[in-house]
Amino acid sequence: MSRKEKTQNSAARDEAGPSSAFTPRPCPICAKMSVERYRPFCSKRCADVDLQRWFTGSYAVPVVEEDRSPEDDGER
Ligand SMILES: [Zn+2]
Repeated sequence: MSRKEKTQNSAARDEAGPSSAFTPRPCPICAKMSVERYRPFCSKRCADVDLQRWFTGSYAVPVVEEDRSPEDDGER
């Protein structure tokens, strides 16, 4: 039956897509195996470290201030 085939297909797709299954991967911070709760990190500490990196990274972005003021342009 074609109906049954469709059902089987969707079931197979569900199995293929690891949306619920957790695959441990090396923590990007310390390379330990990650845990589902803090993925992709191994612990809250590593998640915090990564967060901190993000913050410091954004703060470290150089602010380019323009010395030139619009008035200088008008003088000439
Ligand atoms: Zn870690």
